[in-house]
Formats: sequence, C-alpha cells, structure tokens
Amino acid sequence: MPTLLVVEDEPVLLETLEYNLQREGYQVLTATDGWTAVEIARRERPDLVILDVMLPGIDGFEVCRMLRRDSTVPILILTARTEEVDKVVGLEMGADDYVTKPFSMRELLARVRALLRRERMLREELAAERAQGRERLVFGDLVIDDASRTVYRRGEPVSLKPKEYDLLLFLARHRGMVLSRDLILERVWGWDFIGGSRTVDVHIRWLREKLEDDPANPTRIVTVRGVGYRFEG
Ligand code: CA
Repeated sequence: MPTLLVVEDEPVLLETLEYNLQREGYQVLTATDGWTAVEIARRERPDLVILDVMLPGIDGFEVCRMLRRDSTVPILILTARTEEVDKVVGLEMGADDYVTKPFSMRELLARVRALLRRERMLREELAAERAQGRERLVFGDLVIDDASRTVYRRGEPVSLKPKEYDLLLFLARHRGMVLSRDLILERVWGWDFIGGSRTVDVHIRWLREKLEDDPANPTRIVTVRGVGYRFEG
C-alpha cells in the first residue's frame, strides 16, 4: 500500500487524518512542523504528501517549494483561509491539489485516491510506452506520427522544434489529464534541466501558435489555472 506523509500541527486533526488514512490501508508518516516534514519526505520518499499551510518553523508553501526541487511526489495542500487558496493558486508553487478547511474526511480521501491513481497511471503509461516503442496518435485533423517524429495538421506537416515535439507528444499521450509544470519539466526536459517552469509556458505558447485555430483562446492545449495544462485533443 502507498505511504503517505501527513504534515499538520493541530494534534486532533493530525490524529483524525492518521486514523482515517490508516483505516483505508495506507501507511502513514506524520510531521508537525515544516523542517521535519522536509526531512522525512527526503528520507522516506512517500507516495503522497498531505500538507497544512500554517505550520511552525517554515510554512507549507516553503515546504512545497523545497520538496519540488527534487521530487514530483503528489502534494495535497490543506488550507484554512480563502487568501491561502489564492496564494496556492497564484504562486503556482507546485502543489497538485488542495482542500479548504474544514473539509469532510470523505472528500479528502477521494482527493487522495485520485492523486494516487493519476500517479500510478503515469507510471504505467511510461512503462507501456517504453515496452511498445513508437506510435501514431490521431486527434481529429491533428496527427502525431512518432515513427517519423512528424506532426500533421489538416494533412500538412507542421514544423516543430525537437522540444516542442517532445512536449506535444507527452501532452497527447496524457490526453484529458491535468499535468503540472513540474511534472512536464521532469518528463520532457529531465532532472538535469536548469531553467524554470516558465520554459514550459513558453513552449506551450509556441505550440498553440502552430496548432490552435485561435492561439489566444486555445481549445487543444488548455490552461488549468494554478496547476498546469491539459491536452484536449
Ligand atoms: Ca496549521
């Protein structure tokens, strides 16, 4: 079963979360401050982190940023106030989802399951792609032929730079899924890439200019506010 790290400084809530998650069969690690959370996450490599924002020491935002330096572990933020939600969304800090306190345990468990499912799918797809080799993807008048690394739109080849192609292929293989900038960076550019997540935004813009009827109002590659992008087909 997956291992979850729960970071929360309110003892009653922490205990409630731990109890309910364990009852679902998860292994649960806990931390009550930010530094401990970072330390445990780096040492134990949990499958998902549930992270409160207001913490003693370093807050949840900083913990999130620190974890994102070397990990794409799904992070579910617990926020108490509307302004915190704005900050989560506005700063694009690399969290995958959030719930606002007070929340129902059922809702939280559903979010946890969804995040773990998405992560598992991504891993399985990656393995399947490697096993299968190359493919041809068709989305209406858009065709991605991976054998020749060529993209056709309305039957005409589209000129793409190598990274634009890699990005499009990654998005297309995960059609309908919300993909964070960090995840895209890791999978398309790789860990050793120095540039920031703005690189993703720039390449998305170039792709839209080449693939969308109206690049200002994209319908193929849509923005998911505060999170990343979703390929619609
Ligand atoms: Ca707190």
